Amino acid sequence: MRIGVYVCHCGNNIAGVVDCEGVAEWAKALDGVAVGRDYEFMCSSLGQEMIKDDIRDHGLDRVIVAACTPRMHEPTFQRAVGEAGLNPYFFEQANIREQCSWVHEDKAKATEKSKALVGAAVSRVRHHQALRPNIVSIEPATLVVGAGITGIQAALELADANYPVYLVEREPCIGGHMAQLDETFPTLDCSA
Ligand code: SF4
Repeated sequence: MRIGVYVCHCGNNIAGVVDCEGVAEWAKALDGVAVGRDYEFMCSSLGQEMIKDDIRDHGLDRVIVAACTPRMHEPTFQRAVGEAGLNPYFFEQANIREQCSWVHEDKAKATEKSKALVGAAVSRVRHHQALRPNIVSIEPATLVVGAGITGIQAALELADANYPVYLVEREPCIGGHMAQLDETFPTLDCSA
């Protein structure tokens, strides 16, 4: 296995608290790690190109970026990895920004924690398997059980999204507990 580890500075967001260069150097000694680099902005086109070049030049078969939350850039890096010919699911992101540099001040401890997060990602990525997105047809009509406020709201939002909706209620009228209230704060409207 040949793993590439990339530690992002995010300007000063991470590098202000974490020794990114030190983490990248440390990662190089981990079992299976073939490339370890730190870079200013990994999500930039230059950062993505660096990953793609290394996949081709160093035969990487796993990629880890230690940066922000995967909610932000996992799709970005998965796309880049895929464009270099690797299965996108051979990518793993370690969150050393939201879960480390943004919540710590002690540089030495934050650097140690980043190493632990990167080490965990290296251990995890070894077990990743190649996956393919599967597209299946589904029945778009939706059954909402219970026509209280929550059920009514869910049914309305589904209908607004152009899905057929069946709203089912066991009582003779809809509205649930809300419909039993006479006036509601702050407008004193009749809730029905
Ligand atoms: S990849 Fe994330 S942490 Fe790195 S520069 Fe981009 S936003 Fe910042």
